Amino acid sequence: MTKIVQDTPEALEGYIAPGETFHFKCHSGLSCFNRCCRNLNLFLSPYDVLRLKQGLGITSEAFIDTYTDAVLREGKCFPELLLRMKEEEDATCIFLSNKGCTAYEHRPDTCRTFPAEHGIWFDDKGKKQQILTLKPPGFCEGIHESQTLTPEQWRKDQSAEKHNAMNELWGEVEALFTPATFGPEGPSGQKGKMAFMAAYNVEGFRSFLFESSFFKRCKIKKELQMKLRRDDVAIMKFGFEWIKVFLLGIPSKSIHMK
Ligand code: SF4
Ligand code: SF4
Repeated sequence: MTKIVQDTPEALEGYIAPGETFHFKCHSGLSCFNRCCRNLNLFLSPYDVLRLKQGLGITSEAFIDTYTDAVLREGKCFPELLLRMKEEEDATCIFLSNKGCTAYEHRPDTCRTFPAEHGIWFDDKGKKQQILTLKPPGFCEGIHESQTLTPEQWRKDQSAEKHNAMNELWGEVEALFTPATFGPEGPSGQKGKMAFMAAYNVEGFRSFLFESSFFKRCKIKKELQMKLRRDDVAIMKFGFEWIKVFLLGIPSKSIHMK
């Protein structure tokens, strides 16, 4: 999910306004089928990791160790996870088989939205709006199909609403990070490691909450505590909130120090 600060979203390349239609249909009859699953840099959001690890039936830590590489991109203050590709000439996605995507039900947000891209546009008063831009590669034949879709229909068609909402939450947290957030040690220091766990490792963060004195030091409603024990999405949202409170000093409605 890209954060966009620009005078008007209309000025963006490939922008599709709400209600406007674009042509697209992806299917196995196209000669480009699965070509977009090769030679790509696929960055995974915390929610992408959560869905993929659930789909594979493994822990977040096992998923991160087995399937990703952490990279700190130039100009960024926090590491991101890049899906590891197969070690072959055309660097195919690890989840691609002859029959298509083996992770289809749990595929990342980028794959759901491709060849479009989701973004959040902020107006000069800070009000945000979800936007979609269509940026197909030259080889994508799907954009010449007759089916028409609006951005809203496309999100629904790809079951991308939950991914969009969670990535928007994470985008808001990530946008608050500055080089000073993690102190002199940087993002690889203690603070950075804690934030990484709170964002990407739901089991690790759950253990931290329930196996430390956290609930003795912080006032958290009992119903929320019960939810945090069993609900991965609740833990992830709480992790985002925890990062804001403990790393960025932003007051929270759900976390209060005793
Ligand atoms: S290139 Fe476009 S049409 Fe072809 S498989 Fe990818 S998204 Fe579908
Ligand atoms: S996760 Fe699936 S859809 Fe996404 S790049 Fe890999 S094989 Fe393609």
